[in-house]
Amino acid sequence: MSAANDPTLKSWIEVSPDSDFPIQNIPFGVFKKGKGHRVATIIGDTVIDLYELTKRGYLTGVDANVFKQEFINDFMALGKKKTNKVRENISKLFKHSSRKLKGNDKDRKAMLHPVSKVELTMPIRIGDYTDFYSSRDHATNVGKMFRDPENALLPNWLHLPVGYHGRASSIVVSGTPLHRPKGQQIPADSKQPVYGPCRLLDFELEVGFVIGQKTELGQSISMDEAEDFIFGLFLFNDWSARDIQKWEYVPLGPFLGKSFGSSISPWVVTLEALEPFRSTSPKQNDPKPLPYLENKKKRNYDINLSVDIVPENGEAKTVCESNFKYMYWNMCQQLVHHTVNGCNVNVGDVCASGTISGPERGSFGSMLEISWRGTMPVDMPDGTQRKFINDHDTVVMRGFGQKKGVRIGFGEVSGKILPAIK
Ligand code: MN
Repeated sequence: MSAANDPTLKSWIEVSPDSDFPIQNIPFGVFKKGKGHRVATIIGDTVIDLYELTKRGYLTGVDANVFKQEFINDFMALGKKKTNKVRENISKLFKHSSRKLKGNDKDRKAMLHPVSKVELTMPIRIGDYTDFYSSRDHATNVGKMFRDPENALLPNWLHLPVGYHGRASSIVVSGTPLHRPKGQQIPADSKQPVYGPCRLLDFELEVGFVIGQKTELGQSISMDEAEDFIFGLFLFNDWSARDIQKWEYVPLGPFLGKSFGSSISPWVVTLEALEPFRSTSPKQNDPKPLPYLENKKKRNYDINLSVDIVPENGEAKTVCESNFKYMYWNMCQQLVHHTVNGCNVNVGDVCASGTISGPERGSFGSMLEISWRGTMPVDMPDGTQRKFINDHDTVVMRGFGQKKGVRIGFGEVSGKILPAIK
């Protein structure tokens, strides 16, 4: 484990105990500066401009221009040896005993900004986006609702991480509102489709990862290599229009019910920062996966996840508390399977976990499951109920791991639903 993970490290930047961004985290994101953008990290509530930090000589061994960019792609493409070194150097510069930058008021002013004063933007230029379906509890719940409760999982599910190619163009950063999608749907009492605003708008609680190294067409990634290709993780709300999805998905799978939008959190937390939260992966004995997918290591992560629904001017209601450790297929297995046919991946490609549900209703990661297809509405603090998401509701997802007094988190991904455009 890197020195940057040392739980005893403290920063000279103030960090409140419930912050997701102590000096052990050092995630990467992007904020707007003038007409351009800057790649940054964050400690506590302080955003650190990495271009200024490098240009003024505090960070060496890396070209400053890699941080004067709209996205973190070029930085990720430097490779983990370099990017991990940058994390370690940032850690040294901001640890409590370091006086170098702390003592220079002018430089500090030029590169440190309160997070409340900056606009965080989409951190990744996303090339391709793939969504998986890797939580056993989620797949079982959906199978029970829509197919046969006795055979909830389809025959392929325990043999491979099921996925589909999603849409990258409509992925937005946290805080970006989305309009309710419109499309075809079949009313309960009809055999004919109608066109109109989605009536069953849902969220999906997911964690995404971004690819930091490309492969060539024809090349496959093995289980032993997979972690080298995963730069970091973020929260991912894979919004879903359940009524549109239900009508359109046969036989080729998700399409317009998914492609109207997904939201990601602004900070990419490195795999290295999450190292302390590795947890045991579920046993896969019945059936055993084929050898190329066999997992022999701890490749799950103990990260607490939650979802709040916040009505306009109203009180938040936490509708889900789940955990990333519940995944049946882990990220490495997803990436290995993704490339087993020789499909190439590029820097900036995004894969999402699929809805992360735990075993109980309180840990289900979508309203479809929480309200059990609308049969069990959720009571809100203002006396109203929710089966799905209403116009003007904001959905907020949060995630963090905590161990030995150190909390490493993602911040939040928040998205408001506006009425459909007429
Ligand atoms: Mn999904």
